[in-house]
Amino acid sequence: MELTEQEKYKIFAARDTRYSGQFFLGVTSTGIFCRPGCPARTPKPENCLFFSTAQTAVEAGFRPCRRCHPLNMPGEAGPLIRKLINLVESDPERRWSEKDLNHHGIDPSTARRHFKARFGMTFSAYARQRRLARAKQSLKKGNSVINAQLDAGFDSPSGFRTAFAKTFGTAPQNSSADPFLIEWLDTPLGPMVVICDDNHVYLTEFTVRKNLHGQIDKLSKRHKRPILPGRTSVTEKVASQIRAYFEGNLQKFDLPIVTTGTEFQKQVWQALIDIPYGQTRSYAQLAERIGNEKAVRAVASSNARNGLAIIIPCHRVINKSGGLGGYAGGLDKKSWLLDHEKTNS
Ligand SMILES: [Zn+2]
Repeated sequence: MELTEQEKYKIFAARDTRYSGQFFLGVTSTGIFCRPGCPARTPKPENCLFFSTAQTAVEAGFRPCRRCHPLNMPGEAGPLIRKLINLVESDPERRWSEKDLNHHGIDPSTARRHFKARFGMTFSAYARQRRLARAKQSLKKGNSVINAQLDAGFDSPSGFRTAFAKTFGTAPQNSSADPFLIEWLDTPLGPMVVICDDNHVYLTEFTVRKNLHGQIDKLSKRHKRPILPGRTSVTEKVASQIRAYFEGNLQKFDLPIVTTGTEFQKQVWQALIDIPYGQTRSYAQLAERIGNEKAVRAVASSNARNGLAIIIPCHRVINKSGGLGGYAGGLDKKSWLLDHEKTNS
């Protein structure tokens, strides 16, 4: 029989190892997930999300706990992914073969599975995307196609052209589409994804946001630019300001943002930025502010389509009655953010 959430919580609180592997518990306040029997402190019930598989917990953006290693059957997923990423960055031109992985003591099929769970692509696809991102940078610096090809670690021009065209939609010599670079950040409310290029930030979202994949796809299609893993100096800026925000040391973001939406939506998002830290407004007040008091509904839906969570503070809009209203990242996060700002303002 299916266990209820209450029963699962009790099993978890009792550290009952007999249920290990039958379900997993994600802790929304830390972004970590565990299996039953974990020796860590039991989280509050309101911070618990239950998953039937480790994979769904990972896909929802939770990191495996370092104490109970919920992905451990028998390898270690967290450290494994880190090790693989470090390998790629230490030798970005290399075409990683199964033999190379075995040489580093890594089982290729485990690597494939864990990468798929975290990034939605296999390890070799990830490594290839990183090589292509380098090729793109090299072409941008004015290097010839042949140099870019060699920089990217492709031996044959045709292999390079095919891979390049598949990712960027054009041949290398006439490609103008710069890729967006996507990176994962850890926050006290769980992981966020950040999408930047060399000059701007385009998206910041909690990974648990509904339909995040659809939103990322739309961004890519709207701008006709592919999305590859990686970071830029703008990503560093975003990461450090978001960190300062969560530490209570930053009230106003100073970042080069680009919003993707209609003129009306952009007006709403600008009005959101104007709501001071630690304060709230109702949807009706926001509609009034942009000079269109009848558009309350359209304002609410624009609010929900904000793609720059935290930076554009859509969490500061609540119901007229004082109720929380909605939040794409989850209401627990919204109330945490409002409390956090109240405490620090
Ligand atoms: Zn644990």
